[in-house]
Amino acid sequence: MKEIKKIAIIGSGFSSLAASCYLAQSGHDVTVYEKNPTIGGRARQLKMEGFTFDMGPSWYWMPDVFDRFFADFDKKTSDYYELIKLSPAYRVYYGIDDFITIADNLTDIIFAFEAIEKGSGTILNDFMAEAKSNYDIAIKDLVYRPGVSPLELITVETAKKVGQFFSNISKDVRKKFKNERLIQILEFPVLFLGAKPSDTPSFYSFMNYADFGLGTWHPKTGMFDVVRAMESLALELGVKFKTNSNIEKIIVNNKTAKGLLVNGETIASDLILSGADYHHTETLLDQEHRAYSEKYWESRVFAPSSLLFYVGFNKKIENISHHALFFDVDFYQHAKDIYDEPQWPKEPLFYANFPSVTDKTAAPEGMESGFFLVPLAPGINDTEALREEYFDKIMDRFETLTKQSVKNNIIFKQSFCKNDFVSEYNSYKGNAYGMANTLLQTAFLRPKLKSKKVKNLYFTGQLTVPGPGVPPALISGKLVSELINKQFSEQ
Ligand SMILES: Cc1cc2nc3c(=O)[nH]c(=O)nc-3n(C[C@H](O)[C@H](O)[C@H](O)COP(=O)(O)OP(=O)(O)OC[C@H]3O[C@@H](n4cnc5c(N)ncnc54)[C@H](O)[C@@H]3O)c2cc1C
Repeated sequence: MKEIKKIAIIGSGFSSLAASCYLAQSGHDVTVYEKNPTIGGRARQLKMEGFTFDMGPSWYWMPDVFDRFFADFDKKTSDYYELIKLSPAYRVYYGIDDFITIADNLTDIIFAFEAIEKGSGTILNDFMAEAKSNYDIAIKDLVYRPGVSPLELITVETAKKVGQFFSNISKDVRKKFKNERLIQILEFPVLFLGAKPSDTPSFYSFMNYADFGLGTWHPKTGMFDVVRAMESLALELGVKFKTNSNIEKIIVNNKTAKGLLVNGETIASDLILSGADYHHTETLLDQEHRAYSEKYWESRVFAPSSLLFYVGFNKKIENISHHALFFDVDFYQHAKDIYDEPQWPKEPLFYANFPSVTDKTAAPEGMESGFFLVPLAPGINDTEALREEYFDKIMDRFETLTKQSVKNNIIFKQSFCKNDFVSEYNSYKGNAYGMANTLLQTAFLRPKLKSKKVKNLYFTGQLTVPGPGVPPALISGKLVSELINKQFSEQ
């Protein structure tokens, strides 16, 4: 009879939730330990004064990855939550009465491009055909690989695209399009991968297919629907959840992980899997058991941190769409302020979403819930005064660009910034979404799923493979579970 292994998982973000389901499905005794009072990690939910906010992710892209996750358990996404395709997908603001609306289908987007730059519609059509081909290869051949060996990247299909790994999105898009706005719209999707478009390989244009080809979706009552769905699947499979359970130490004996120190209590386990930030997990080990030095982490490109505001308005906001990008200032200067000369941006780009536009339960009747995000350099100095200064800056611009006054209609506001990413999630330098997918931080070049120093210790999540984002987190949980099961089957 197959031996049941006791597995402890640190953290309850999407990667841990996915792994918990796969490992329980394989018959293991799985317990998830989460330091915070609620599960979901960066995708937690905030409920205040009748308003509901997703605290982190809000763009539901790559629906096929979610479908594939649930199908692995003979379930359908629709068994757990309802998906709405957003129409329009989003709007990009450049000035007063000056915005581009991204439709929910490629035909209309091509039409919008053509209206802005003559000839660009046909070029976009060809660009999207290539992006789709990259997406198919990425999903079929690349992202579901564990990053163990460079050979994983070499397939007949990838060999044909090798040049795309050595050029970058920015260069590619600039070769094809002249209009700065169209260029920025095409550079936007790879920002989800955490690096500048000029540092992101061209092959990642598959994110453009995710954007224009597959569309932007919204779970009916927000991204937290996905957390709830995965929690109920995990419970069905027998996973146990322990919240308010801060892991203080990973106990190692004879170079083998033996258990955890949780709120001062020792818990024995056959195997430890951490979905907490990789760097933090290593600090739970004695120095000799850490695989990566501080110098290593220091030299990596991290995704930005963020200044976030969750805001309750006592009226409906006009002239907005569910997702809105405010690109009315210099895109490249802001990128420089994040990656090249880290500082608070003089003129910040920002992103906003208004879940109550789609989901009436997200705000009391006649009111609106608003989420505002300014990307910032990881490790930046974070003070209350700076948060306030930037709130005023973006509210002024928001009022001007959407032609209405809103500041006097704020009845609730909560901020979240670098210091909170550190204290709430033990995030390295307060990164919001992990380690970037640059060429040198892709696949086998990322921190490993399996510890190089400690037996029976594994990692998952946005600092390992495949990278940042909710769909990659689901994939990461699957990949690590496969490695763990492989180890058990070889014992
Ligand atoms: C503001 C924001 C917006 C985003 N927008 C999008 C988006 O629109 N679409 C998208 O696809 N992705 C988005 N992302 C990225 C996405 O949310 C993440 O990549 C993904 O949720 C990360 O999941 P994870 O499991 O790797 O880590 P996490 O969610 O960070 O989970 C790690 C968990 O470990 C816990 N933990 C840490 N230390 C300990 C300890 N010592 N003991 C116990 N528990 C511990 C933490 O509390 C946390 O719950 C966004 C992220 C942020 C922050």
